[in-house]
Amino acid sequence: MTADEIEGLLSSFPHVAGRLVANASMARLSWFRTGGNADILFEPADEEDLLKVLRRLPGDIPITVIGVGSNLLVRDGGIEGLVIRLGRGFSEICTRGNVVSAGAGAMDVHVAKAAADKGLAGLEFLVGVPGTIGGAVRMNAGAYGREVKDVLLHAHTVDRFGHVEELSPSDFNFSYRHAELTQDKIILKAAFSASHGNPEEIRARMKEISSARADSQPLGTRTGGSTFKNPDGTNAWKLVDEAGCRGLRIGDAQVSEKHCNFLINHGGATAAQIEELGETVRARVLEHSGVELEWEIKRVGRETKGAAS
Ligand SMILES: Cc1cc2nc3c(=O)[nH]c(=O)nc-3n(C[C@H](O)[C@H](O)[C@H](O)COP(=O)(O)OP(=O)(O)OC[C@H]3O[C@@H](n4cnc5c(N)ncnc54)[C@H](O)[C@@H]3O)c2cc1C
Repeated sequence: MTADEIEGLLSSFPHVAGRLVANASMARLSWFRTGGNADILFEPADEEDLLKVLRRLPGDIPITVIGVGSNLLVRDGGIEGLVIRLGRGFSEICTRGNVVSAGAGAMDVHVAKAAADKGLAGLEFLVGVPGTIGGAVRMNAGAYGREVKDVLLHAHTVDRFGHVEELSPSDFNFSYRHAELTQDKIILKAAFSASHGNPEEIRARMKEISSARADSQPLGTRTGGSTFKNPDGTNAWKLVDEAGCRGLRIGDAQVSEKHCNFLINHGGATAAQIEELGETVRARVLEHSGVELEWEIKRVGRETKGAAS
């Protein structure tokens, strides 16, 4: 969008209680800490705020929804149109009986802890996923033998016209790290089933998961989590390792030495360098083992000249 188009669109929106800004840095909103700007970033205060803007949004303006950007690579050319980030106003968590409900902006770890506090088992795996509930449903996030599809009861979504609907798990057609949802559908909240358990045992399981992660993953780095999906019957990291890519580096982008399905930004990597590194790994794995790795990380935004496709 041109600067005039962005200005024109901004001035056509009603007053909002949340944050609506032009040319917003996306680097600070993604774990890789790199990438270009969003034409417009909207952080609605609550559902009503979100609906107000959606109902005034022209049909040709693309929408991109993000959580906390823990599985996201924003390209250097930035993101066209409206980026929507659901935050604090969407982070309520409540439990009733054995059902745990959470807003799309709630952090998975907080949901796992809230369930444990009520002696509810089955959501411990969420402690190992550093994203939001919206991102978890969208990605069918999982860890240590469980994934969202095993526990989801239903989720509310809104489309670009402001129509809210309740979807059941079958509507998402879940598969490994994937839910079928069009790009302009926004998950608002979700409800999960849990079972009554012993709080001490639940907490012990969460502790086990957290320390297993700390032992195997490069926590505390600028990363996007698992870069590639595990192909049937094997682990992506094994194929990357066997293809000699552990530690491979392009500029400040590097394949983690600790877990070679993670790419790391040491500080100055551009999104193009990270993407090029990922594509180099894919090519080497294909050559070495004949397996075509599929990106798990969502790459969004305008490609810049010379960047990997
Ligand atoms: C160190 C590390 C470890 C990780 N470990 C795991 C793991 O064990 N298991 C696992 O599954 N993942 C893991 N991940 C990946 C990531 O945490 C998950 O995919 C997480 O669910 C992404 O949530 P997010 O809020 O960060 O979403 P984002 O990264 O912001 O977005 C991811 C996708 O979800 C979509 N999305 C986000 N919010 C919404 C919404 N409200 N409505 C519709 N779509 C939405 C975005 O459009 C995008 O397509 C890890 C990541 C890191 C950095």
